[in-house]
Amino acid sequence: MSNTLHIVGGGMAGSEAAWQAANAGLQVVLHEMRPKVETFAHQTGNLGEMVCSNSFRSDDDEQNAVGLLHWEMRQANGLIMTTADRHRLPAGGALAVDREPFAETITETLKSHPNIKISNEEITTLPTDGHWIIATGPLTSGALAQAIQQETGTDALAFFDAIAPIVHHDSIDMSKAWMQSRYDKGETEEERTAYLNCPMDRDQYEAFIDALLAAEKTEFKPGETAGYFDGCLPIEVMAERGRETLRFGPMKPVGLTNPHQPEVKPYAVVQLRRDNALGTLYNIVGFQTKMKYGAQTTVFKNIPGLENARFARLGGIHRNTFLNSPTLLDAQMRLKSCPNIRFAGQITGVEGYVESAAMGLLAARLAVAEITGQTLPPVPPTTATGALVTHITGGADAKTFQPMNVNFGLFPPVAGLKGGRRGRKDRYKAYTDRAKADWQAWLTAPKLDAA
Ligand SMILES: Cc1cc2nc3c(=O)[nH]c(=O)nc-3n(C[C@H](O)[C@H](O)[C@H](O)COP(=O)(O)OP(=O)(O)OC[C@H]3O[C@@H](n4cnc5c(N)ncnc54)[C@H](O)[C@@H]3O)c2cc1C
Repeated sequence: MSNTLHIVGGGMAGSEAAWQAANAGLQVVLHEMRPKVETFAHQTGNLGEMVCSNSFRSDDDEQNAVGLLHWEMRQANGLIMTTADRHRLPAGGALAVDREPFAETITETLKSHPNIKISNEEITTLPTDGHWIIATGPLTSGALAQAIQQETGTDALAFFDAIAPIVHHDSIDMSKAWMQSRYDKGETEEERTAYLNCPMDRDQYEAFIDALLAAEKTEFKPGETAGYFDGCLPIEVMAERGRETLRFGPMKPVGLTNPHQPEVKPYAVVQLRRDNALGTLYNIVGFQTKMKYGAQTTVFKNIPGLENARFARLGGIHRNTFLNSPTLLDAQMRLKSCPNIRFAGQITGVEGYVESAAMGLLAARLAVAEITGQTLPPVPPTTATGALVTHITGGADAKTFQPMNVNFGLFPPVAGLKGGRRGRKDRYKAYTDRAKADWQAWLTAPKLDAA
């Protein structure tokens, strides 16, 4: 097998992967279909084009998980971060970027790298040999998506995300909520108490429906097509179909007894289900929505038990091609059925420019180690990069897998720290201190020759 690494897609992940691998001495071919083949969102033929907002979000590496991811990528000489720093615009604590010079610099840097060849062609089939990283993003071309689907099965590749909001467990008021599966179904105690329930009386339900109907919504972008399926209708659309629809759908109050008020039958119940193996995150079942982010926090905080909820991510429905990574990828980000192919970026089920670039960085380092016959120690799950990859390749529930931003709910808890809102500052500082030490140790760890 040739030692050349082929990377498909020159967006955030592919550009970062090409840089990392080429700097490690590999020959890289970067296959980018633009400008010959366009997507509905990209405007140029540049590599590293930001398709929408020009923000890399918070740059706070002590109190914010995405800021920590910035820090980790800077330490690893990440191209996306160093170029973002060069074209930074004033934006308070956020890292906003002058998008055109940013993408032009990425393009020039990769074009002029002696180890990188850029090939402007669409890849339409899954390669059977050679070393590959596929980083074709949320708008993967139709032909390649079809080839991936043929390999992985139709249910394993999604074309829309339908994201229900995700709440930090320690911000839920358990004096109002309780754990119980409908009709106490399940073989084990864990299964019988798998759901977290928030009860509503009639007035609370009516007020909730009014708030849903009145909330500001986001429209689909032109070309994005509003072809979502009945199985994942936004809750506000369900409410528009009839005020009782939700009570007969995701909010049905049947099979549940509120231990805080056993004599009162709830009029409706909002259910949350564990979203990660750590049990730190819960998603609100069936609550995918196109409400604007500000409206979501206002509306969802009306749910009894969620008055002080902190959201790890808010809901949404977008055009988004992504794999069911927990079932398809191994811990090395390889497709289990074709281990010569790695996936990176948003197609693996992470969400956002920064997360996608981080997965490109990691996939490239894993590929370099494999191609050069070395073994990297596993990336620590206590780092932002490690927490993300651990989540997508196994920590997340495969049945409900939806794209994920980096957040502290993905990190293993630090023992002995105060929970809840009051302990938050110390807790986040402890997470970021631990992550920085572990990331540095991982970056500098000796690479063993593979046996
Ligand atoms: C409409 C829209 C708006 C978004 N807004 C934001 C936002 O504001 N903030 C944010 O953080 N994230 C946003 N995202 C998500 C964003 O796209 C990702 O965070 C990020 O760009 C993903 O990086 P990536 O490298 O995985 O994919 P991309 O950056 O999309 O790069 C993938 C590349 O692969 C190329 N490609 C696709 N198929 C093929 C093929 N078959 N052969 C060769 N090349 C191919 C594409 O042309 C593209 O250049 C948005 C996504 C969409 C669709």
